[in-house]
Amino acid sequence: MHRIDHIRITGARENNLKNVSLSIPKRQITVFTGVSGSGKSSMVFDTIAAEAQRQLNETFTAFARNFLPSYGQPDLDEIDNISAAVIIDQKRLGGNSRSTVGTITDINPLLRLLFSRAGQPHAGYSNAFSFNDPQGMCPECEGLGRSVQLDLDKFLDRSKSLNEGAVQHPDFAVGGWVLGTYTGSGFFDNDKPLADYDEAEWQQLLHGEGKLVMQWQGGSMNARYEGLVDRFTRLYIKKDGMSDRNREIFLRFVTSRVCPVCEGTRLARAALDSRIDGYNIADFTAMEAGELVTVLGKLEVPTAKTVLDSLIDRIGNLVAIGLGYLSLDRETTTLSGGESQRIKMVRHLSSSLTEMMYIFDEPSVGLHARDVHRLKELLVKLRDKGNTVLVVEHDPDVIAIADHVVDMGPYAGARGGEVVFEGSVAELAEADTLTGRFLRNRLPLKTAPRQPSGWYTVEHATSHNLKDVTVKFPAGVLTVVTGVAGSGKSSLVNDAFLAEYPDAIVIDQAAVGTSRRSNTATYTGLLDGIRKLFAKANGVSPSLFSANSKGACENCQGLGVIYTDLAFMDGLKSVCEICDGRRFSDDVLEHKLRGRSISDVLEMTAAEAVEFFTEKKLREVLRAVNDVGLDYLKLGQPLSTLSGGECQRIKLATELHKAGSIYVMDEPTTGLHMSDVGHLLEIMERLVAQGNTVIVIEHNLDVIRNADWIIDLGPEGGSGGGTVLFEGPPADLLEATGSYTADFLRQDLA
Ligand code: ADP
Ligand code: ADP
Ligand code: ZN
Ligand code: ZN
Repeated sequence: MHRIDHIRITGARENNLKNVSLSIPKRQITVFTGVSGSGKSSMVFDTIAAEAQRQLNETFTAFARNFLPSYGQPDLDEIDNISAAVIIDQKRLGGNSRSTVGTITDINPLLRLLFSRAGQPHAGYSNAFSFNDPQGMCPECEGLGRSVQLDLDKFLDRSKSLNEGAVQHPDFAVGGWVLGTYTGSGFFDNDKPLADYDEAEWQQLLHGEGKLVMQWQGGSMNARYEGLVDRFTRLYIKKDGMSDRNREIFLRFVTSRVCPVCEGTRLARAALDSRIDGYNIADFTAMEAGELVTVLGKLEVPTAKTVLDSLIDRIGNLVAIGLGYLSLDRETTTLSGGESQRIKMVRHLSSSLTEMMYIFDEPSVGLHARDVHRLKELLVKLRDKGNTVLVVEHDPDVIAIADHVVDMGPYAGARGGEVVFEGSVAELAEADTLTGRFLRNRLPLKTAPRQPSGWYTVEHATSHNLKDVTVKFPAGVLTVVTGVAGSGKSSLVNDAFLAEYPDAIVIDQAAVGTSRRSNTATYTGLLDGIRKLFAKANGVSPSLFSANSKGACENCQGLGVIYTDLAFMDGLKSVCEICDGRRFSDDVLEHKLRGRSISDVLEMTAAEAVEFFTEKKLREVLRAVNDVGLDYLKLGQPLSTLSGGECQRIKLATELHKAGSIYVMDEPTTGLHMSDVGHLLEIMERLVAQGNTVIVIEHNLDVIRNADWIIDLGPEGGSGGGTVLFEGPPADLLEATGSYTADFLRQDLA
């Protein structure tokens, strides 16, 4: 008899897990389901993946381990029979502008090899074709393809003086050390508006250099003076690798134009002159992957047959996973979370490793129903190579391929953390759990859509692949924008529509935490109210309860945890030993509000807090947090621990009680269980009932069925898309031809 062996986990207790024990069949696909906050990630990522990583690190020598992050043991009794884990999550690929789809998938090295073997005239070996190598890069832009310049109009507010904060970049804030090297230089009248500077002062400010003795906080010190432009260029423009936040700030202050020498191809002349069948390497990297495979398939290159075959195989994987509309020269920083995850998949598909454990976080995100089957094929392929595949997923279509399902619940946070069902998909459909029930009962199509109260028009939109489209968005109703990935939904909504209607409230999945201090309470504005209550109850100043006051723990500066930054890796976090995670000094913790300290309050979940607080304003905000399905979040939980979907919902909660007329959301169902989608729909309905306009980009069929109006783009992704296929109420979409969305809606309702 064939014996299936198992990964066995005993007594898992990370986050909300309640001493869970579990067996997971190896070399099978196991899907983890359950409402958000039920404990899926705590089990899959924080327990199984973390332990696999830790055990792997143990196998290195003590010397090598010095250079690796030290993983604490997850809170559990035992894990047996675990394999090495590859985690394929939705963290954006990030990287710098030298990182493209071609470099990150290792397709570019193969292309270079192809040209070094078969290109005419011969340019050299393969480094001569690399824009990341001095031999191959365009000497003008150093392989960036663009020349980037500081935009002085954005960088400086000339109506202000240095002391008034004329320099707009946050690193040059008034009172900070950096600006101090200018105000303390003695070169300027610090109170004179920049507009009144004469030519010499202006030159000194922007381009001066030299040594100086600087007056700083009452003393003097030797320093180097460097003009603003030169300093900015050295510190930001020439610097590789930036955190997402710094990059976002950086981009606010620069303008860039295509490099006039290489015309954006990033490559040196010799590399561009070398051709195969009339194409140079830049022609290939600029093509959409789908077209590139076809072109490569027709090449005759006897000298590089094996290279060509592996190229076709790799790029074929990119197409197979639904990314055929991307070109290899696309910068990874412009990819969405879902696209990033699929790119990571491509990297692993070509590997011949077996006996690995592959772990996916909601791989269906951003995928149209048409492409979900391709994703499923890839997951099956990984399994059939002899790997164990673990998937956290909400999409019934993906759940369907599970060999084994683990359903977590019954609810979120403290009311979750248990395995409520284990078994086959067929058994799950019969099970009395939230997931089981929602698999059986799907929402019906909206048959009486609301009538628009007016129209918002976008005319002649052409951004990215949009083909000069003119679209009418109805006011006062719920509009869902649909279409396969790459069809142009974001380009239409986020670029064209928002350019026209910038007052709209945008609720996207971009990370909300711009600083480590941000948490649920600070972000929603709750903390201000809470601090005032503490102050009033104790007759002290509200600032005492602020994380940057002197009342905060000095060691962790009110964070409760200590972060250790590591180059190239995710930072490490450990609980502060001085305050034991309580964030404040003992004196501050003495001050109580109805028997609780500020630290106790920050440890409350939103659900607990709504019971605790009686103040109307606070309750309103807390209710909004609960309404978007985040009742399990702790008030002091750092925003950096939230997923993209959770970030989006916390934004939604924060914006809900604001008056505004247009709401724009990008795939708000991400990370949501089918039962939570119901809550989300209620929120959208409420917004619309209050007279707002709601526009969402969505693949989720439950949301599509509930729309008042649908705008369907396509038919394909990339150059094959960018046209409007359908505009109208959902019932009419059922009649539409030539639309994948219509096909899948019909199938789903059948
Ligand atoms: P799921 O993956 O099912 O959405 P999680 O495992 O992420 O659920 O979360 C389970 C519970 O643990 C939730 O209450 C969540 O808020 C909490 N939690 C998750 N990560 C952390 C963390 N880093 N710090 C504190 N609480 C956390
Ligand atoms: P969707 O939202 O339907 O997935 P997008 O609007 O993101 O589609 O993409 C439409 C087309 O525009 C695709 O071919 C995509 O590759 C391209 N595109 C999107 N964003 C960028 C960008 N920042 N730079 C270059 N091309 C882009
Ligand atoms: Zn150039
Ligand atoms: Zn501390």
